[in-house]
Amino acid sequence: QRRGPAETAAADSEPDTDPEEERIEAGSLPPELLVEIFASLPGTDLPSLAQVCTKFRRILHTDTIWRRRCREEYGVCENLRKLEITGVSCRDVYAKLLHRYRHILGLWQPDIGPYGGLLNVVVDGLFIIGWMYLPPHDPHVDDPMRFKPLFRVHLMERKSATVECMYGHKGPHNGHIQIVKKDEFSTKCNQTDHHRMSGGRQEEFRTWLREEWGRTLEDIFHEHMQELILMKFIYTSQYDNCLTYRRIYLPPSRPDDLIKPGLFKGTYGSHGLEIVMLSFHGRCARGTKITGDPNIPAGQQTVEIDLRHRIQLPDVENLRNFNELSRLVLEVREQVRQEQQQQQDGEGPAPPQEPLSARGPPGAPAEEGGDPRGGAAAAEQPAQSGQGQPFVLPVGVSSRNEDYPRTCRMCFYGTGLIAGHGFTSPERTPGVFVLFDEDRFGFVWLELKSFSLYSRVQATFRNADAPSPQAFEEMLKNIQSLTS
Ligand SMILES: [Zn+2]
Repeated sequence: QRRGPAETAAADSEPDTDPEEERIEAGSLPPELLVEIFASLPGTDLPSLAQVCTKFRRILHTDTIWRRRCREEYGVCENLRKLEITGVSCRDVYAKLLHRYRHILGLWQPDIGPYGGLLNVVVDGLFIIGWMYLPPHDPHVDDPMRFKPLFRVHLMERKSATVECMYGHKGPHNGHIQIVKKDEFSTKCNQTDHHRMSGGRQEEFRTWLREEWGRTLEDIFHEHMQELILMKFIYTSQYDNCLTYRRIYLPPSRPDDLIKPGLFKGTYGSHGLEIVMLSFHGRCARGTKITGDPNIPAGQQTVEIDLRHRIQLPDVENLRNFNELSRLVLEVREQVRQEQQQQQDGEGPAPPQEPLSARGPPGAPAEEGGDPRGGAAAAEQPAQSGQGQPFVLPVGVSSRNEDYPRTCRMCFYGTGLIAGHGFTSPERTPGVFVLFDEDRFGFVWLELKSFSLYSRVQATFRNADAPSPQAFEEMLKNIQSLTS
């Protein structure tokens, strides 16, 4: 009998009919119709309906109502008949599993020292599963993400849901989940002996390194003694005991964004592949680390792209000359510095904004000086005509990945964050953001003389959208403050 404002207004505008007369006693409706009505209401409204009268309460025991709620609210399409064998009803699944654990669905970042990580909690059949996402093996940025289950929750009996730890190689075993607050929860393993391997600690550690990081002890030993010690610390302390997760949201997307924001896999030299979130903030774009390393921890802003300052690359021949690129970038840096200075000096409003050349037709080739050879090279590739300009890394710039794209759409001035071990003396250093296509970009770190290639994470994530742009900004701020 509840009326929305629109209905009430409509009733008021028709004085001929008395709204009271049109009401039907809900209790007099046939049960089949009530089932149909109740099944279309949000599951969270149903408990209060059950308190109206005994008839309603009885009807709410109809399992088809709850089956539909499980399907529509949580996407459970599983053949729920399996449940009958164990005596578990769809109502139990809804109330004791899905509704009870709804706050842990979505994307999370585990608190593992500087390393961070990406956990995706999903409803999968009659399970809630926490999948840890790992980047592909270095340097294959275009390979899909790897994932492994860390825990699962399901209803084995009517009473309550069972939490199982999935870590290790001996199968699921007893675990525990604690929802600390709305955007934080922690997991605990109650049977860490299941993580043990017959070969002892050494074998376990080697397997962990190989499976999660795609590396051997010897690899790392040569590269980073410090990192090895830290990894060993994470391995022994965190995985054996308890992990805490903090919620992360995917960046909100607007139609005028340069490309669709989202998660990317990027090369970070000897640190291997890391997960970075690209988001747009008006005149700049940011890359935030979802996974990190002992130099730059997770949560920090690895690159910042100045969308007002495009960099026109020279033709390929000149591009091979590192000093030429360096000169171009430092010129822009000086320009940026002067603009900032002017902005600080002038008390008035900010200087007039430059038109956003970035927002011009993507891929408009920036041929300067009209090098006939450059023009010819472009003409040889009709498939890419108007789609980009030739790109090559300057001699002396190192890249993990030799098969980076050889054409790009456009480039911008940007800064990249570098720091010593343990995030000591962090500094933003100049670089070039290179947009290759909708799913790939690169960053030339001028001071490091190195190149990072980023490729989009193609997986789709449910329950990962920010409730508002403000909530997203807040989340970015929070994960950054945790490690700085
Ligand atoms: Zn365990």
